[in-house]
Formats: sequence, structure tokens, C-alpha cells
Amino acid sequence: MSKTLITGAHVWDGVSAQASPRQVLVVDGRIRQLADVIEPPTDATVVSLSGHTLAPGFIDCHTHVTLSPPLSVAMTADSSVTRALKALPVLRTLLMNGFTTVRDLGCANVDYPTIDLRNAVAAGMVDGPRMVVAPHLISARGGHGDFSAMIAGEYQCCSRPLELAAADGSDEIRTRVRQEIRAGADWIKFAATGGFASPSDDPGQPTYSQEEMDVLVATAADLDIPVTPHSYGDEGIRRAVRAGVRSIEHGNLASAATLRMMQDAGVFLVPTQYTILSGARRDENDALWAALPEYSRRKMGKYRGLLLDAADVLATSEVRIAFGTDAGMFPHQDNWREFPMMVSTGITPLRALRAATSVAAELLRLDELGVIAEGNIADLIAMPGDPLADIEVTGQVDFVMKDGVIYKDPVTA
Ligand SMILES: [Zn+2]
Repeated sequence: MSKTLITGAHVWDGVSAQASPRQVLVVDGRIRQLADVIEPPTDATVVSLSGHTLAPGFIDCHTHVTLSPPLSVAMTADSSVTRALKALPVLRTLLMNGFTTVRDLGCANVDYPTIDLRNAVAAGMVDGPRMVVAPHLISARGGHGDFSAMIAGEYQCCSRPLELAAADGSDEIRTRVRQEIRAGADWIKFAATGGFASPSDDPGQPTYSQEEMDVLVATAADLDIPVTPHSYGDEGIRRAVRAGVRSIEHGNLASAATLRMMQDAGVFLVPTQYTILSGARRDENDALWAALPEYSRRKMGKYRGLLLDAADVLATSEVRIAFGTDAGMFPHQDNWREFPMMVSTGITPLRALRAATSVAAELLRLDELGVIAEGNIADLIAMPGDPLADIEVTGQVDFVMKDGVIYKDPVTA
């Protein structure tokens, strides 16, 4: 039996309003005991984390581990084997950032590299966060997942139309959902509206009819697979909520009434604010704006005011927020920056930290994770200082334990 006793830390359990000094005994990958003082078992490894806050391992509900910026390159060229190999250091980076679980929401290969990566991590072949996977973004042709226009414009050499998971109408949608699930999907993702990074659509406009969304969600529900759509604008979100999705990705243009509709329906929001608000807050003369493709600049110009206003509305709403970053659209090592970004919009540190722990675990239906409690899986991280008082310390995680195995500690970090 492997035993680890963690002493000296303030423990924040994933739910409570404050951390308090506790000791934690981990036996064979599970939290065996949580108490003020625990007599060290003779054969236990003792880890002293004085000055640290111990928290549940963070959960990022929106990653793309096989992608990296810039998107125009990410969408082309590499085989799925090459992508999986390039994802190995990414998985390690995310784990070392304190993210012991991620939900990956789409690759840019026609086959299923993220399923293979998920299985490799689960089998102990690869170090990384446990993965929950939606393999592809199911999209209408001309919608957010249809990058054909970008390929045609920038990659004339590429003859393959980039229609990764294109599906229009009930029959194609049913087939596509069942294919994803047959391949091992844990989640289904689809594009309910356009986006900012794609050439031929608009973030405010829905790209599937109500009937198409109803069919998509019902097909997945028959197989007990939850659904989450990429959706910015109100109408796309409202259709998706009516169809029965479990969460909404982005949602950065949602009105107060739409957030209220989500709240009433028990739908979680994963607002990925770091990537979207970093762009919206930048001056239009900023060099980074100039580096964006024309269509992204145009869309950001159209929506930036609404994005900033909607962030204020979100902070005052009571919708359940789960933490997600869209890492892969920006360098993965920066995914923790979602925490200070959330707090900068008025979301409290406690709500942001719950979003990445207990609330995220509930969204993902992983009921032995996200909370430090006796019997739960021992995914534990620590950072120097108190993240409830200074959210920036979320970027200084120097202790990482996953399934009871220590990957990083302050002595060797
Ligand atoms: Zn994404």
C-alpha cells in the first residue's frame, strides 16, 4: 500500500468559503482521512506543505491539446500521429500547471487522436491530466467548424476540404453523432453559432435550426452522452438549451435573460474569458490585432463592446460557471490565466476556484473528483499563499498529486 501524509497546509476543499489548517492522509490513490492532526503511519511518506494552500486538482473543461497557435497552421498539415506526439509535452505542461483533469473539445484530424491520448493517459503510458473527450466539433457546412474558406485562401496546396465533422439535416447529424460515440466520445460538441476564428460565419448568428439541435441532442441522450455547444449569441444558446444540452461553451454574448434561462434549466456555462476578453480589451491599433486575419478583426470590431458588456452581466448573474480556457487557441502553459481574467471581470475568487473544482466535476459527472473529502480520488495540488486572497498564486502551483502519485513537489519544483 502506498501512503502519503500531507501536513502543514491550509486545505481548501473545493466548496468552502475559506481554507483551514488540516492534514490529509492518502492511501492507494484515495483520500483516506482528513483531520486536524493525523498520527503518521510508520510506512507513510510525509510531505510538508507549510505556507501552502492545498486544493482539489484543477479541471479545465475546455482544452484542445492537439492544437497550438496560430490556428491557420493548427488546422492543416499534421497527421494524427504527429499531433498526438506533439500533445505529449502539452499534457505534461497542463498537469504541472495543476490541472489533473481536462475535457478536450476537439481536434483537427479526421480520425481520433484525442481518444488515443485519453486512453494512453488512463493506461499510465503517458503523464497527463485524465481526459474526457469530445473528438470533433460537429458543424453545419458554412458554420464554425467549416474551415474550407480558410484553407482555400491560405493553403492552396491542400486539396482536402476541411469538413472534419460537417453534418447538415437530421440524417447526417444522427449519423455523425453515432460515429463519434462509436469511436469512444465521452461528450458531443457542436457549433450552435459562428465564431471569431473561422472565416465564413458570425458569432451572433445560429448555424443550426431548432430541429437540427433537437435531433443532435436527442441522439446523444439515447446513448447517455452529454452535449455541449460552442455558442456565442443568444439565439444559438436558447435553441441549444431548449434542445437539452448540459453546458454552453463561450456564451460571451449572452444577455441577462438568456443566462437566467440557462440557470433555470440547470445548464452550466464555460465562458473561456481569457482568450476572448484579451482580444476584446485590446486597442484596435494594437499590433496583435493587426496580426489577426481580416475576418477575425472584422468580427472582433463588431462585437467587442457587446463582449465587454456581457462580461459585466455574467459576473452579476447566478448561472453556474465551470472553468474552461480554450487552451490550444493560445499557448497551453497560460491556461491558468483564466483565473485572474475571471476575477478581473468581477467574478469572486471563490466562484472562480469552485468553477475549476467542485462545479467542473459536477458538470463532467465525475463525482469522486473536485472536492477534498474522505473516499474521493486523491487529485491534490498546492500553491504558495492563498488563492482566495490572491488569485495570481493559481499560476504558481508547485505540488501536484494525481491518483495519489506525486508529479511535482516544492522541493524539486
Ligand atoms: Zn474551443
